[in-house]
Amino acid sequence: MSFQIDCPNCGCRPVWEYHYGGTPRQRPDGSATERQWAEYLYNRPNIAGEQTEWWYHRSACKLWFLVRRDTRTNQVLETKRFASATE
Ligand SMILES: [Zn+2]
Repeated sequence: MSFQIDCPNCGCRPVWEYHYGGTPRQRPDGSATERQWAEYLYNRPNIAGEQTEWWYHRSACKLWFLVRRDTRTNQVLETKRFASATE
């Protein structure tokens, strides 16, 4: 199914211009066990409904940004730039 994503820099573009980056998750710290790392690397949520995801605009501005999308319909509900706690 094809859909469009509204890049914060470029506007609405077809999904094939982007790379999916998964859902935002907390990376394990240095004391994490192998099991915790395996969970982080290989077990990803597969939500049927709204979720927030990382997307990368690989064909144009090279921006990583956040997209709130309904995975059942591929409707993009919101896009926004990532703002770290220091900004
Ligand atoms: Zn862009």
